[in-house]
Amino acid sequence: MCNNMDFRPTRAVINTAAIKHNAQQVVSYLPNETKLIAVVKADGYGHGVAEASSAALAAGAEMFAVATPDEALALRKHDPQTDILVLGPSPVSFAKYAAQKNITVTVTSVVWAEKVGDLQRFNKKCKVHVKIDSGMGRIGVRNETELARLIEAINQSENLSIDGTFTHFARADEEGPEPTDLQFQKFMQLVDVFPEKPRLVHASNSAGTLIFPEYSLDAVRFGISLYGIAPSAVVAKKMPFKLQRAMTLETELSYVKKVRAGEGISYGGKYITSENDWIGTLPIGYADGLKRALTGQEVIVGGRRVPIVGTICMDQCMVKLPHEFPEGEKVTLIGKQGDEEITMEEWAERLCTIPYEIAVMLSERIPRVYK
Ligand SMILES: *Cc1c(COP(=O)(O)O)cnc(C)c1O
Repeated sequence: MCNNMDFRPTRAVINTAAIKHNAQQVVSYLPNETKLIAVVKADGYGHGVAEASSAALAAGAEMFAVATPDEALALRKHDPQTDILVLGPSPVSFAKYAAQKNITVTVTSVVWAEKVGDLQRFNKKCKVHVKIDSGMGRIGVRNETELARLIEAINQSENLSIDGTFTHFARADEEGPEPTDLQFQKFMQLVDVFPEKPRLVHASNSAGTLIFPEYSLDAVRFGISLYGIAPSAVVAKKMPFKLQRAMTLETELSYVKKVRAGEGISYGGKYITSENDWIGTLPIGYADGLKRALTGQEVIVGGRRVPIVGTICMDQCMVKLPHEFPEGEKVTLIGKQGDEEITMEEWAERLCTIPYEIAVMLSERIPRVYK
């Protein structure tokens, strides 16, 4: 087979067995009646939506969640059957396609429900989950009056039917349960407004699922930890089971040279070589998601950590080696090699962000290879 990944050693290796393991672990951790909604938005957090969703399904996931209508349609092509929930808002024009393709949408607006109700009658109703804002401050109705009006508007519409309701925790990944307890209480009060309990009432993301099992309700929306990553250091310390990381980022030394002291390396000559430096070049750069701010970050070569030196270029970067290595020597940027391991958390710390952002910033140019 001849495709792009045959010609570039830079690749993200995805271990689908790890995703399956993490999903299985959470299914057995959850109360029996709680369903697993596998969150596979943003191309399965950069791991590939097709493979991630299949792995989660094999481990017992009963529904998928994505962020946008387009993500739902792409996933529907891969999986013709499993329920899919769109977590973000959808335009009125999407409701008809959603109904046809068994995609469930999130509703927050009376106007939206009325407009969909005014459309020519669908063959099949569009299933909706009503979003309640219990403290995230993003989308959702915020009090009894708003909720009652929205439920009324949905029930008036021949094109819509309520399948669920949910809220989203803003601080379940932090130390201290109070904000999450308050959000849960507010959510439960509002759920009482429904004349009939919706089939799926759900609140928890990964952090909620892992730290607050008592808030699991009918389903949990499990995202980041499906891929083996703890939502925060606080949650990592309290993990009820061990996660397996699903992604490794690797490449090879494409060029190796010995340089004299005092030479500049890369744009701006910002790294000046010292005596007898061996400099290796890696075929990965900021167009791949290796941000320029990652200069100084280490990679693993021959089982040892070595630093990225000089400015990171769009497609390549340089590392300082302890001695000569052959061209083609394996380089691990994220993952284990020998006794060393570099995690997405380590990159995240250097970039003042969270590992979620690392997983999704590795660009499409990096082929995902599955094992
Ligand atoms: C992304 C998202 C999730 C998943 O969150 P994780 O922290 O990745 O588990 C759950 N619910 C909503 C509404 C989301 O947007």
